[in-house]
Amino acid sequence: MTIITEPTSRAAEAYAGARLGLFIDGEWREAADGRTFDVFNPATEEVIGHVPRAGAPDIDDALAAAERAFPLWRDTSAFEKSRILLKTVELLRERAEAIGELMAIEQGKPLKDAINEVKRVSGTLEWCAQETRRLYGRIIPTDVDTDLTVRYEPVGVVGAIVPWNFPAGSPMRKMSAAIAAGCALVIKASEEVPATACALAQAFHDAGLPKGVLNLVFGRGAETSERLIDAPQTRLIAFTGSVPVGKILNARAGALMKPTIMELGGHAPVIIAADADPIQAARRTSAAKWANAGQVCTSPSRIFVHESIAEEFIAEMVRLAEAHTVGDPLDPDTTLGSLINAKRVAATDHLVQDAVAHGATVAAGGRKVGDRGHFYAPTVLTNVPLDAEVMSEEPFGPIAPITTFTDLDEAMRIANSLPFGLAAYGFTESASTANVMARGFEAGILSINHCGGSVTEAPSGGFKESGIGRESGPEGVQAYVVTKRVSHKLR
Ligand code: NAD
Repeated sequence: MTIITEPTSRAAEAYAGARLGLFIDGEWREAADGRTFDVFNPATEEVIGHVPRAGAPDIDDALAAAERAFPLWRDTSAFEKSRILLKTVELLRERAEAIGELMAIEQGKPLKDAINEVKRVSGTLEWCAQETRRLYGRIIPTDVDTDLTVRYEPVGVVGAIVPWNFPAGSPMRKMSAAIAAGCALVIKASEEVPATACALAQAFHDAGLPKGVLNLVFGRGAETSERLIDAPQTRLIAFTGSVPVGKILNARAGALMKPTIMELGGHAPVIIAADADPIQAARRTSAAKWANAGQVCTSPSRIFVHESIAEEFIAEMVRLAEAHTVGDPLDPDTTLGSLINAKRVAATDHLVQDAVAHGATVAAGGRKVGDRGHFYAPTVLTNVPLDAEVMSEEPFGPIAPITTFTDLDEAMRIANSLPFGLAAYGFTESASTANVMARGFEAGILSINHCGGSVTEAPSGGFKESGIGRESGPEGVQAYVVTKRVSHKLR
């Protein structure tokens, strides 16, 4: 492992030019009471900016702006909606490098991954811009004197809450689908990574999105979310985050009979069957495992390898973990950046220590890196017993816990035994084993012979406690509509 923890001096300078504000009714604002959050560079632990912290009056202003904008946007033609969204796509593509740099600085992922994230979300928005023209209803044959139709209407004002791990990806999934469906929204993005979300809002504004359709705030999690849920204006709550917080917010929304989209945590199992190619499986598992330093809801996080190929698989996993260059996200050689904050480093280290105490072996990493910045070495744990915490707690960090199995059915049973069901992965050369996996895994996002995550064209979401509803694909836009049945007696 190579370590580059001496950060380039351009981080603070580049970030000083970032726009950080509340975007309400088409304007950038400070909080009414002037309060702010500090924004940190996780690679240096320095304060690099201050973002306004919305209080109740700011959130209420944002909700009122969305309420005013909603009927106008709803009644804007599909062609015009699509045109504005496609213009936003164009601007985001032009700005990808600049936005990616801000993201790398505030979140800690390597610069090229951050730029790619902006390009990916441009693709997400492009797809939604096209989908806005395909929100077809249907005509149902019935009595000759009656027209029976089904139409889709945007649900109304949406309250959205998203975390920090994909500073462009998480907000854009909500913004693109809700706006394409004809909704207005108030979104609370993460105060830890505000510049990226602000840059997205600026692009929508510059492309001509009418004021009030998109409102962006930053605020304390519980306080802001509760206000958005309780507000009479909001008709749907869309949340991405952890299972415990999702449960709290879903219960609150449920008490008001408000529908929710809940994209929550997971603990993705990987099963590598006896007939799989262990080297290819290790390479593809590693690529997904170390992405975003493991801070991904679909990250492979419980790895079950058949004992007959375990040695080769583990050796390649260790080799790839040790091949990483860990450090400054802006350095082009960096392949693994920092974690978001000290809390994540402590949580990662706790899971590693607990696994070791339960008898696991550290085959790579297993330690914090450097004295400054929130870096943790890519860590491969072997012989991890099922009662180690890391086998049931979502690690959300750079830990690859590996254990072996002999019986596929037993491995599938263990894989499905947690209350999560977001992503799952299987490796096999056999069509019948692939079929057992495709049918057997209890997960909403299943990949066989690779560890691909979410894609724009197809729905993503969780089984069991990993969530409710789907994002992406046609289902992702339809999540923001209400279905109206119209029966019209003609004579
Ligand atoms: P989190 O649940 O702690 O916070 C998510 C958001 O909720 C933040 O904006 C936070 O401010 C807000 N929040 C609302 N009410 C809150 C309350 N009562 N207490 C605390 N925060 C509250 O999640 P996190 O740790 O920031 O993000 C990581 C989690 O998100 C992981 O579990 C991960 O798997 C999940 N996630 C899921 C997806 C998905 O698509 N399923 C994608 C990314 C992340």
